[in-house]
Amino acid sequence: MSEVLQASGSTLGRCMCIITGASKGFGRALALLVSTAVRSLGRRRDEVVRFLQASRRLKPGSVLVLVARSGLLLQELKEELLQGLQDVQDLSVCCTPADLSTKGGVEDAVEVARQQGLEGIEHVLLVNNAASLGDISPFESFTELDEVNSYLALNVSSALALTAGVLRAFRPRAGLRWSVVNCSSALALRPLPSRVPYCTAKAAREMMFRVLAAENPNVKVLNYSPGPMDTEMQEQIQKLTGIQNHLYPCQESASKLLSVLLKDDFATGSHLDFFDL
Ligand code: NAP
Repeated sequence: MSEVLQASGSTLGRCMCIITGASKGFGRALALLVSTAVRSLGRRRDEVVRFLQASRRLKPGSVLVLVARSGLLLQELKEELLQGLQDVQDLSVCCTPADLSTKGGVEDAVEVARQQGLEGIEHVLLVNNAASLGDISPFESFTELDEVNSYLALNVSSALALTAGVLRAFRPRAGLRWSVVNCSSALALRPLPSRVPYCTAKAAREMMFRVLAAENPNVKVLNYSPGPMDTEMQEQIQKLTGIQNHLYPCQESASKLLSVLLKDDFATGSHLDFFDL
């Protein structure tokens, strides 16, 4: 993991970094990686401290806004993140327990970010990662409009409303780097039987963020397909289907994404896949 990051060798700047779905899985791994946690590196303590100083991806003064429903898990993550820092003043971590499938949850998340202010911030980075698997059932079983809408509320609508809210809170302008990551999937591009909610939502999000890329040249948009990762979502897939995919650690995928963001040479609106990086 660290090889990829050391090779790219830059920072995300003094950053307002908002990660949804940060309590578990990929979002959690990414939050740990951008702030470089000690434990994940597995080196001797004195070496780790030196490495941390050299490799911190968020410059001092950065803000990390962590969003998910589980406040407890976010708080645990915050403690872990701050333990890895030499000076806790360098990074402000805001835990935001919010259900993004609701209007109030999306508004709370935007408001928490907005309250942090932008003074001295060089880069706004929004990672739309929160998602759910949805039912794995044949097409004709989705007769209940409320259930379908409830799935789409989290997996499509919240990503649009949240991104729009954060764009209004921190208007893109020259001199402010603005990046949006959509956690996509190979299933945004390829239909899979019995996965109509998931495939539909991922395809819709992909187009949603391509529109943003086409509309706003001051925002760089990346649709990142993180590959099959060892997370609760995959546990669910295995339980429901009996299919055991070959899974990769979240850190490996998060490391590839971070490397792309650090290099910042991707075309806005593009789709990048874990297996192509
Ligand atoms: P995961 O382990 O299921 O974690 C999902 C995250 O989303 C959790 O932090 C969860 O936190 C949060 N979340 C779920 N419902 C929410 C809600 N209503 N409001 C706010 N937050 C909510 O998922 P993952 O496997 O890490 O997947 C991360 C992203 O990668 C997703 O977009 C997924 O579609 C995509 N992806 C995953 C794989 C894979 O193999 N795992 C493959 C391709 C793409 P709380 O429960 O605390 O709310």
